[in-house]
Amino acid sequence: MNLSLAATTPDGIEFDEEFLRIRWKDGAESEYSLLDLRKRCPCVVCKGGHGGKIGAATGAIREAKLLSFSKVGRYALNLVWGDYHNTGIYSFDSLRLLWEGKEGDLGSP
Ligand SMILES: [Zn+2]
Repeated sequence: MNLSLAATTPDGIEFDEEFLRIRWKDGAESEYSLLDLRKRCPCVVCKGGHGGKIGAATGAIREAKLLSFSKVGRYALNLVWGDYHNTGIYSFDSLRLLWEGKEGDLGSP
């Protein structure tokens, strides 16, 4: 699946107690469960080491609160969780693919 630049460029990002929402430049809006995103954290620790699988170390997490986020260049989102875990870099490509149901490189939890 080829994504246009507009499809992977956020126009607005917001979150509440349960969801992260992204409005994309192509007009689409996507919504992610915070718990699901937390479980899919793509960092090495959550994957259980280098070469590990998404979700390997996050299966027992039962709740997730988002404190803040920041953009990493133009390509990704860095999320800071309620437990101060902040090493997950979620690429916009993979977030958009996840919303499209294509998983992307976030993989399944
Ligand atoms: Zn992580």
